[in-house]
Amino acid sequence: PKTARPNTPAPEDLTTWDRDHHLHPWAAVDHWRETEYERIEQAEGIHVWNAEGRRLIDGPGGMWCVQIGYGNREIAEAIAEQAVRMPYASPWSGTNAPAAELAHRIAEMAPGDLNTVHFTTGGSTAVDTALRTAQFLNNQLGRPEKKIILAREKGYHGSTYLAASVTGKERFRTRFDRDARVHFLPDVNPYRRPEGMSVEDWCDAKVADLENAIAEIGPERIGAFIAEPILCSGGVIVPPEGYHRRTLEICRRHDILYISDEVVTGFGRLGHWFASEEVFGIKPDIITCAKGLTSGYQPLGACILSDEIMDRLAAAGDSSVFYNGYTYSGHPVACAAALKNIEIMERDRILEHVREVSPHFHARLAELADHPIVGDVRGMGLLGCVEARLGAGTLEEDSRFGEELDAVCEEMGLILRPIFNMAVFSPPLIISKAQIDEMFDILARGLDRVAA
Ligand code: PLP
Repeated sequence: PKTARPNTPAPEDLTTWDRDHHLHPWAAVDHWRETEYERIEQAEGIHVWNAEGRRLIDGPGGMWCVQIGYGNREIAEAIAEQAVRMPYASPWSGTNAPAAELAHRIAEMAPGDLNTVHFTTGGSTAVDTALRTAQFLNNQLGRPEKKIILAREKGYHGSTYLAASVTGKERFRTRFDRDARVHFLPDVNPYRRPEGMSVEDWCDAKVADLENAIAEIGPERIGAFIAEPILCSGGVIVPPEGYHRRTLEICRRHDILYISDEVVTGFGRLGHWFASEEVFGIKPDIITCAKGLTSGYQPLGACILSDEIMDRLAAAGDSSVFYNGYTYSGHPVACAAALKNIEIMERDRILEHVREVSPHFHARLAELADHPIVGDVRGMGLLGCVEARLGAGTLEEDSRFGEELDAVCEEMGLILRPIFNMAVFSPPLIISKAQIDEMFDILARGLDRVAA
């Protein structure tokens, strides 16, 4: 490590305290008292240092979020300045300058008439707000039966009750309850299409899945369709060309709100502030974002609503209240971090950089496709996934592929995010071409070692 943290407890104590008292996300209940999590001590640029002082490329970019990289003093100073000036302001009784300015900036960046921003504490609460808004709107409009939410298998939308309810990852072995008013559409992954089927026919089939679900359930009972432009936690699944536009048109026809969950794809991951319109050509009714909004320097999310929704809510004509909001909605320190993050991204031309290096990233990713244990490689922008070839090993070996690849790559200086038979990566957006090469060189050697 570059410098030791002052007054740090002994490493053995930290390990014990973490194991005994810190319940991590997605901990396995049968061995949560035995699991030792790696402790990250410092970070700079695209690298993190672990407790032994080893430097590692942060393949997942934190958790798909550290866009401008670690150790940025400018954003740290903006956070400190705001914390000293005014660390908190209630969004109920007043407003604050960073929140007002950030709402204005986001409205400028968001497509079309998406001009109203409700700040949240992260991605899950942004999704929760979007879904509650859809319920609220239909209650306001006097159609309380229009409540079913269409979501997709392999989609991930978070951990609040509603966001978890629309999450369609079938492999989550969990006994948590979920809201029953959700209907899941089948996997859209082109890699999973039947042998011999063209991608165009696969797209038709996936659009038909939506149409059939609407015909079966009845459009008068469906309030919203929620979709990530790319299903990231599901394994960086890029739906087939044309799918976004055609599904949006169907939703419009049936007055079903289209919620685009851009918690990962927003703020530069695909080389644009938002991917919905600029990459996929759609103007959704609601966009949710978080993560890259502050580059992970502060927790913050936003739910961005169209003028049309706001007008319809108002036109319903009663004095009903938008009864949603958080103590930390529009938190001045988090909003100050987001404003500085946006300023840095603009000044340093980060979006242009992503568009410039992405072709190289994908050329290197494509080279891995020929590896004997690789079944599929895919991605877009600075998002990538390597999936094991089905049957390359036993079923158990296939499902351990991500973990094994991550373990051998980590020995060589690269962290990945394992997801069963896949490993995904979304490095900080400031990654250079040379660093992309270093990353893929390690990945290639890692695949050889896993195969061996
Ligand atoms: N939506 C998507 C697409 C995500 O990938 C995530 C988190 O990974 C979330 C929502 C939830 O965000 P958070 O963990 O900030 O609550």
